[in-house]
Amino acid sequence: MVFEGLADKLQDTFKRLRGRGKLSETDVSEALREVRMALLEADVNFKVVKDFVSRVKERAIGQEVMDSLTPGQQVVKIVYDELAALMGGTQSRLNISSRPPTVIMLVGLQGAGKTTTAGKLANLLQRQNKRPLLVAADVYRPAAIKQLQVLGQQLDIPVFTLGDQESPVTIAQKSIDQANALLRDVVIIDTAGRLHINEELMQELRLIKGQAKPHEILLVVDAMTGQDAVGVAEAFNGQLGLDGVILTKLDGDARGGAALSIKAVTGCPIKFAGMGEKLDALEPFYPDRMASRILG
Ligand code: GDP
Repeated sequence: MVFEGLADKLQDTFKRLRGRGKLSETDVSEALREVRMALLEADVNFKVVKDFVSRVKERAIGQEVMDSLTPGQQVVKIVYDELAALMGGTQSRLNISSRPPTVIMLVGLQGAGKTTTAGKLANLLQRQNKRPLLVAADVYRPAAIKQLQVLGQQLDIPVFTLGDQESPVTIAQKSIDQANALLRDVVIIDTAGRLHINEELMQELRLIKGQAKPHEILLVVDAMTGQDAVGVAEAFNGQLGLDGVILTKLDGDARGGAALSIKAVTGCPIKFAGMGEKLDALEPFYPDRMASRILG
């Protein structure tokens, strides 16, 4: 599970700190040196770590004194608050349009989990009494359309496709008419990925954006790729403007660097977390619960 190494190290550090009655500035500095190392080893962005540690230090040494907590507990509390803040503070929800259909465009590189996530998100929304329509706009990867159709069948959710001969822009545009005709209130567009970011991909995504006018553009990225995921998020955000990120494969042994860096580096909140391959393995991303998982 994600954050395992980081959690072990931080819990170790804080166990020692909690045991002390009084804390000197040196005790705090020593603990924060360990926090810094642990975050860097978890592949958190260098500058994010630096800013994080200096915020914690300032608060811990300036000491907002709370009578109910020992000095050690207070430092832990500050770290917890700052970890949650780093991941966005509170849960970031989807932008649901007051005029249906709400259009959600999923973007990302190949293999990140985009098509699977389209199915999972449709499933989650259907459980919240929405009526999703899945749209197969990845016309380049041979199996992508079929893969989405299979997911749609499993979930009993319609899948809009025009095969692989129409342009993704046309498909996206016509899918909205189809949603209106079928009274579907959320359109989830599965766009094409590439192995690497390139101008052709971005151009196509910009055209789809222009045509489908999505309420949400969500980037699907693989948490296992660490700082690469952060770089991908920066690039997509710069080119398209993202409303949020879906971080997949948090059930794996990702160190957690992507989860802890993406919001701070790009400003884009993580809205959902992929926790497995099954169709019910998508959860809203709760920064405070993630922080608790790290600190135990
Ligand atoms: P795409 O190329 O981005 O559309 O990627 P796919 O949706 O085909 O997914 C690629 C692989 O990642 C598949 O084997 C998925 O089952 C797997 N996958 C997607 N999301 C998750 C996740 O949250 N956890 C795990 N363990 N595997 C995932």
